[in-house]
Amino acid sequence: MKYDIVIIGGGASGLCTAIMSKTETNSILIIEHEERVGKKILSTGNGKCNLTNRYCRTELFSSNPEGIYPYFPESNRSFAERVISSFDAENAIQFFQGLGILTEDKNGYIYPRSEQASSVLDSLRFRCEALGIDMALGYQPIKIIKKDNLFHIDDEYSCRKLVLATGGMSAPNTGSDGSGYELAKSLGHHIVEPIPSLCGLKCNDPFFKALAGVRNDSKLSLYDEQKNLLIEAQGNLQFNDYGVSGIPVFQISSVAGRLLKEGRKLLLRIDLLPEVSLNDLADFLDRKKEQYLLGVLNKKLSQVIEKEVSRKKGCENVSNGYLRACMIKKFKVHPIDITSFAQSQVTAGGVSVDEIWPDKCESKLVDNLYFTGEIMDINGICGGYNLHWAWASAHCAARAIKAGS
Ligand SMILES: Cc1cc2nc3c(=O)[nH]c(=O)nc-3n(C[C@H](O)[C@H](O)[C@H](O)COP(=O)(O)OP(=O)(O)OC[C@H]3O[C@@H](n4cnc5c(N)ncnc54)[C@H](O)[C@@H]3O)c2cc1C
Repeated sequence: MKYDIVIIGGGASGLCTAIMSKTETNSILIIEHEERVGKKILSTGNGKCNLTNRYCRTELFSSNPEGIYPYFPESNRSFAERVISSFDAENAIQFFQGLGILTEDKNGYIYPRSEQASSVLDSLRFRCEALGIDMALGYQPIKIIKKDNLFHIDDEYSCRKLVLATGGMSAPNTGSDGSGYELAKSLGHHIVEPIPSLCGLKCNDPFFKALAGVRNDSKLSLYDEQKNLLIEAQGNLQFNDYGVSGIPVFQISSVAGRLLKEGRKLLLRIDLLPEVSLNDLADFLDRKKEQYLLGVLNKKLSQVIEKEVSRKKGCENVSNGYLRACMIKKFKVHPIDITSFAQSQVTAGGVSVDEIWPDKCESKLVDNLYFTGEIMDINGICGGYNLHWAWASAHCAARAIKAGS
């Protein structure tokens, strides 16, 4: 069957591209290999869907509350900025209002007022239906060839314009299993090695079994082997039997993951009491004199720190309080790996953006081939930036598709 536009992948960016590309006259098909579209949207934001972030405006990137440039890798910044400069947080909020979704702003993090991710998915699905966008569900495209200005998908479908919106490899139980990369490769594109991001860090220190389950508001500083500070993040840290996770770990995982995969040695310094200065903490602990850490830290953490203190040698010249304060403010752990794709929220890597026009999200190698969302080598930090990337790149591709039709 012949369509004007075929979109492979019925996730966040695919559904959005379809809605934004629709005109009165064009025909659009979404091909989704799962039995239903948008499965991943349902699990976003712990079921509440953090759909964008107030700071998703290029001029506000450097002042976002995380204090971290929100898109990786660094080399692709200008690509991400070009795409987002024409579709920022306000545009995303307006788009969803147009679908009937009211939003709420929680310190810059934007959610649907219903606080239900299902309402975001349903509004996208209903709009697709209302616009007459066809869906082929449970269909796995095997082969795409381009002949006579038409893309032929197996012998089933053909189209003038093709969008690959198949996501990355994270949470593969929602359908994003990496098969889209094979389709991109078959059309001549290169894939930057995909690795998990927004994920935990496995560490090789002996105390993690004892710390499993502990949560602590902390500041993290990641260093390389030359002791260069790479990235910092603050928030609720979670200790597990394998290492660390939680939002601040997610925020640094893109940088840590790429370097660990290159075989680099990293050090993670954790400030377990970021709200108190080293000297104030030392004074406080020295005044306590005994049961130094009781009521200061979680008991399991206190026990680990006391154990480390008892192992320390050559510290006779510093007070007991100062010694413990140093341990608390500079608790060191050694990451050796990242957790799996199944335990990650986003994929770093993907179709190289060197081969994509940033003003159109169109392939530089194959005319009328477009990419949207996480399939590209752009990934964001936690906070609505990844869904924003899905909407913004969909907008970019849809604008180009309509301009060229
Ligand atoms: C647990 C979790 C929570 C998250 N929470 C948030 C959040 O609150 N805010 C935020 O900004 N981001 C969040 N994210 C990230 C966000 O969901 C993704 O970045 C976003 O969904 C990517 O959109 P996409 O369209 O590129 O890919 P996806 O949404 O993954 O959609 C890809 C679609 O393509 C289909 N597909 C794949 N391969 C093929 C194929 N070969 N043929 C046909 N169909 C195919 C898949 O089945 C899927 O439906 C979260 C992710 C996870 C896993």
